[in-house]
Amino acid sequence: PRTDSVRVAVRVRPFSQRITIRDPRNEAHVKTFTFDLTYWSHDGFQKDEDGVLIPSDPTSKFAGQNSSTSEVFRDIGRGILDSAWRGYNATLLAYGQTGSGKSYSMIGFGTNKGIIPRVCEELFEAIGKQKENLEPQDRLAGSKPRAPPVRSLQNYSVMFSMLEIYNEQVRDLLSRTKIPGGLRVREDQQLGFFVEGLKWVPCEDYAQIEKLVEQGSKIRMTAPTNMNASSSRSHVLITIQFQQVFLDTALTKQSSINMVDLAGSERQRSSGSEGDRLREGSRVNLSLTSLGNVISALADSATGKKVLHIPYRDSVLTKLLQSGPGRETAGRHWIATLSPADICYEETLSTLRYAERAKKVRNRAVINTCPLL
Ligand code: ADP
Ligand code: MG
Repeated sequence: PRTDSVRVAVRVRPFSQRITIRDPRNEAHVKTFTFDLTYWSHDGFQKDEDGVLIPSDPTSKFAGQNSSTSEVFRDIGRGILDSAWRGYNATLLAYGQTGSGKSYSMIGFGTNKGIIPRVCEELFEAIGKQKENLEPQDRLAGSKPRAPPVRSLQNYSVMFSMLEIYNEQVRDLLSRTKIPGGLRVREDQQLGFFVEGLKWVPCEDYAQIEKLVEQGSKIRMTAPTNMNASSSRSHVLITIQFQQVFLDTALTKQSSINMVDLAGSERQRSSGSEGDRLREGSRVNLSLTSLGNVISALADSATGKKVLHIPYRDSVLTKLLQSGPGRETAGRHWIATLSPADICYEETLSTLRYAERAKKVRNRAVINTCPLL
């Protein structure tokens, strides 16, 4: 087993045009946070040498230095893929208030591909390369081998699922069948928690995944709840089960890549019907609250405090994230997304504090390997 610290990235989205701003230099109150990575996607201001925000001047050396999702992917996505190839589970969570850029970063819009599609795309690219490397050996089968094979013969399988957690109910985003009360989350002695009856689609190439994400996003939009409520109050969990089968040694390596576009972190206000309001008031963000509690407990335990209990079982999200033998407890990779607007100051501060806490967590990771049955 290896022990890993959580990697936390912070991303500031640009202003939308409706928002007017105050000069932040007038704010006497300055707070500093340290993260592994920071990304600046906002044009109006830049950091100076001391990390202080200053309005950007088109003639300054910072002008036009906005970070793109490819940069974020280069830093985070690669680590996820690397884990997956080595047989570790990998988890990426996007946390932040509604409108701060979680979906933009994770899924993306239009030509601006998010991290999830990029991870899938590169996974298949790498599989393709591996297969190419194997080909000459296959072709040589039967003829005299030129040299001992450098690689063991391998097979790969990629399975894809996409679900939504809303009001602690699980909805399969790849299925149009409505299940009253949602799909059941069950516990298996060996596998941990899993969603019963969830659709897992075997994928051969990236195009297939692209289509599934699109389908899933459409089904999510047609939720009976109002669109805004659904997209800001529900969590979307996309999971890729990546399995490598080493035919020569009859071993398999398995990795679950969990990628979560979390519900908005802002204090929930309700806009749905009265019934919804009552239900949501009590538990809409049970999953988000529980995730916070799990992180606090793990962060405490990592910093030497005595922690008797990690409350994984309190919510659907925390159950699903901790499942599997190589559990990634609180997630190994985090992107905290921030709005640059001054009216979002309180939420931004709370997101930064949350992310700071997540950074303290140490994950224990194990390689999922087993004999081929
Ligand atoms: P969330 O999912 O957190 O509610 P979205 O991802 O929907 O937020 O982003 C809100 C808006 O801001 C969208 O119009 C999106 O295109 C834009 N946006 C967010 N992050 C960025 C970014 N880094 N660069 C450019 N536009 C962004
Ligand atoms: Mg969103």
